[in-house]
Amino acid sequence: MRKTLIEFKNVSFRYSEEQPWVLKNLSFKIYENEFVAIIGHNGSGKSTIAKLVNGLLFPQEGEILINNITVNEETIWDIRREIGMVFQNPDNQFVGATVQDDVAFGMENRGIPREEMMKRIDETLHAVWMQDYRMTEPYRLSGGQKQRVAIASVLAISPQVLILDEATAMLDPKGRKEIMQTVSELSEQRGLSLISITHDLAEVTQAERVIVMNSGEIWAEATPREIFSKRDELREIGLDVPFIAVLAEELKRAGIELPQEPLNHKEMLEELWTLHSRT
Ligand code: ADP
Repeated sequence: MRKTLIEFKNVSFRYSEEQPWVLKNLSFKIYENEFVAIIGHNGSGKSTIAKLVNGLLFPQEGEILINNITVNEETIWDIRREIGMVFQNPDNQFVGATVQDDVAFGMENRGIPREEMMKRIDETLHAVWMQDYRMTEPYRLSGGQKQRVAIASVLAISPQVLILDEATAMLDPKGRKEIMQTVSELSEQRGLSLISITHDLAEVTQAERVIVMNSGEIWAEATPREIFSKRDELREIGLDVPFIAVLAEELKRAGIELPQEPLNHKEMLEELWTLHSRT
């Protein structure tokens, strides 16, 4: 059995008493060393979930547990050590005058000794392929490079979970793919859990599990393959379907039913070959 890292127990949240509930009786778990994608239309409550995990907000009802410890005002400082967050706009995340200062910042706040800090700066900048930019001023970096540094900064605090909140949204498809590759390799090496809040369907197909939010509630929780086979229902709640799933749908309409729902180009080719060799 995998260890539970994050647990939401009947969590409800609203930004104020005058406003409607943004999250309604939400319960789910995230396990150790798992990659979960959270998707849903704009305003469905995804970012609010990220802020609750990190104790930037607290729920009015229900409970959030990280490593079996309830998130509250007293526990939040310890809990934040375990949680690395990267947001959409890297410019809002920079505090240091150089890349190196920036990576050091989170560690300084946590009282990590200087020698250990230098070691971690070195390690994490290498891990995200930014070792040659240690002394560069952050504003000189490209969008993708900035996100790499933001990721290095959170990895430097050695968290158990990395939460990416639309972290690749401002990058081009190539940049997105590169960042996700780096992040998933690092998560695997370090045994981290990865939660990605994203609109990028290619990214979603890489996840082990997908949580689909709709109007503050969990609409579905399943593997990417199961989720993307519900094409019409997804469209009804305002979500896109990956190109390969649309292609599979068109083939079906034309009388060509694939043995298994393909998730990417490679799988689509395999399915077509299987069909072909049967005929
Ligand atoms: P998502 O990340 O899925 O787009 P959010 O969690 O950002 O959704 O927002 C959920 C709902 O909460 C939306 O209706 C949004 O307008 C509202 N909301 C988000 N932030 C605030 C805030 N600071 N004050 C009031 N309402 C907010």
